[in-house]
Amino acid sequence: MKNNNEKIALIIGGSRGIGRAIGLRLAKSGFNIWLTYRNNHAAAQMVKTEIEKKGRTCDILSFDVSDYSETEAALGEKVDALAPDVVVYNPGITRDNLLVWMTKEEWSAVLSTNLNGFYNVMHFVMFPMLREKIGRIIVISSTSGQIGQAGQVNYSASKAGLIGAAKALAREVGEKNILVNIVAPGVIETDMTEKLSKDTILPLIPLQRFGDPEDVASVVNFLCTEEHMYIHGQVIGVNGGLAI
Ligand code: NDP
Repeated sequence: MKNNNEKIALIIGGSRGIGRAIGLRLAKSGFNIWLTYRNNHAAAQMVKTEIEKKGRTCDILSFDVSDYSETEAALGEKVDALAPDVVVYNPGITRDNLLVWMTKEEWSAVLSTNLNGFYNVMHFVMFPMLREKIGRIIVISSTSGQIGQAGQVNYSASKAGLIGAAKALAREVGEKNILVNIVAPGVIETDMTEKLSKDTILPLIPLQRFGDPEDVASVVNFLCTEEHMYIHGQVIGVNGGLAI
């Protein structure tokens, strides 16, 4: 078995927020990082520099996960030549609106990135990982996908869809020693949540604070690095008690 410092973690959507924290945490655990993002080159470059300061390598790859051809061009040959040991599927966007006002574009944009992107990425990554007969896959869902959130019919659908997809994949690949789990964050302080009203939301959270990206990254790190691991096909909530 490889040491962590020979292992590669592919973080999809790793330039900011939760994905950035996961990249840094896994680099601290010794992984070399392949970090993808859509178009925020400056942010990705900053994460790369931070990871390299930890003595690990970091390749950055820019592509839109909702575009199958772009995903294939960026990832296809790379993962075929060298399978990652860990894949974290983290990209997500919101286009919040009540269903009665929600446009087709708002529905499609969210489903395309959050859910179709999962297929686009995993379609290329899965076969090389199966060849290695070892690996960990972590899918970042959301409390919104577990219990539903008014104003987020598109987002809740995409995140619930990811839970179903990851559970089905867990049944397909478990016998090949590839462990698949889902992490469902509650409200985490990132660009995505900067406009949310703390006065409205904090009373709903028993721990009385928004989560930090590091709160999510530490759980992902555990699922990726723990040797004695019998957790498979599970949804792990990281939500301060927002959903109990
Ligand atoms: P951010 O908006 O801070 O970061 C999103 C990341 O995804 C960036 O790296 C972004 O790249 C990348 N990304 C977005 N769209 C695409 C795309 N089409 N193709 C490729 N990469 C893309 O999000 P958060 O850190 O807040 O969230 C991370 C994940 O956690 C998301 O899936 C989100 O749904 C989920 N989540 C977040 C919660 C929160 O409270 N923040 C709560 C529950 C779940 P770029 O920088 O180039 O735009």
